[in-house]
Amino acid sequence: MLELTAAWATDVGRVRVSNEDASYVGRRVWAVADGMGGHAAGEVASRLAIEALRALDDAPEPLDRQAIVNAVAAANAAIVRHGHLHRRTAGMGTTVCGIGRLDAAPEAPLCVFHVGDSRVYRFAGGVLEPYTTDHSEVAELVAAGLISPEEASTHPLRNIVTRCLGLAGGAAPDSRLVEAVAGDRWVLCSDGLNGELSSEAITGLLAAAPTPQEAVDALVAAALVAGGRDNVTVVVMDVADGTG
Ligand code: CA
Repeated sequence: MLELTAAWATDVGRVRVSNEDASYVGRRVWAVADGMGGHAAGEVASRLAIEALRALDDAPEPLDRQAIVNAVAAANAAIVRHGHLHRRTAGMGTTVCGIGRLDAAPEAPLCVFHVGDSRVYRFAGGVLEPYTTDHSEVAELVAAGLISPEEASTHPLRNIVTRCLGLAGGAAPDSRLVEAVAGDRWVLCSDGLNGELSSEAITGLLAAAPTPQEAVDALVAAALVAGGRDNVTVVVMDVADGTG
């Protein structure tokens, strides 16, 4: 039986006055959400997204991919509804990314999902590999070959997401199934991490941190040193062979 151990850390950063990120480290669901919207509405949006995902952990049913997709849809509906009831928060939105551990399959595959530009990476064998493709203007420009990934990191449109929760009509997540392999380390983050740190810097910090808690603490601290221009939130989850 594989054992999954996770930790999280967050910081408001050195520029923003409020932290609109939210995260969740649960029993079979791990997630990060990055809210947006004025007057603290982003905080409401990211919290509603996390609450909908947290409900998956409390549900008695076995977890499957469709349940995750449904939870993201429920989060979207809750944010839209809240915006209708509280005009101050109308137009708020949030990204979300996460991993669910599915109960249905004996090999316990993981379901990686996301909406927006919050990211999931796999760190295995010393190599950091993105498992999500940002729903963003610059990611589309990179995919079309119009700009390089390096140019994307400083592009004026880099903060514009093309998909997020909070839009009437829904915002379906991308999702993929992945084997859970002992020794793998998974990283979930808001763009306050990858906006400040290069992949090489993230890789080095992950390689040097023995535990998920040490990893998230080191990553958030480094993002602050690099500028901390945005809220930064990281969840790290390690897969290990269980002893019991
Ligand atoms: Ca952000």
